[in-house]
Amino acid sequence: MNGNCIFCKIIRGEIQSKFVYEDEFVVAFNDISPQAPLHLLFVPKKHIKSLNDIKENDEIMLHVFKAILKYTKQIGIKEYRTVINTGKESGQEVLHLHVHVLSGRDMNWPPG
Ligand code: AMP
Ligand code: ZN
Repeated sequence: MNGNCIFCKIIRGEIQSKFVYEDEFVVAFNDISPQAPLHLLFVPKKHIKSLNDIKENDEIMLHVFKAILKYTKQIGIKEYRTVINTGKESGQEVLHLHVHVLSGRDMNWPPG
């Protein structure tokens, strides 16, 4: 846990957010600034800065993707984009590892 981290605050319940999914290792909630009709963030409860920092905790990504599979199956979504930004240049704003899950619109990319 990290005192100043916004996602740690959400996980601790210090910032209000409704979890759509929670298990021992992972929570998921709606992105505050959705880029698609469905835009969820799957976040490990453990504070890890980015994919580059998982070190010995690499099983965490298994838990995150298992959670994504379980939840998308539960809500009946088969087509979605998963995104992990790593580092500022990639667009990572929140330095707590998370996977974006976007769905509900055509996202063919790259264009052309
Ligand atoms: P990234 O740019 O990959 O670090 O993604 C961070 C995401 O967190 C952005 O899409 C933000 O819209 C989202 N975000 C920031 N603060 C909150 C919050 N309090 N609740 C939900 N989503 C948030
Ligand atoms: Zn954190």
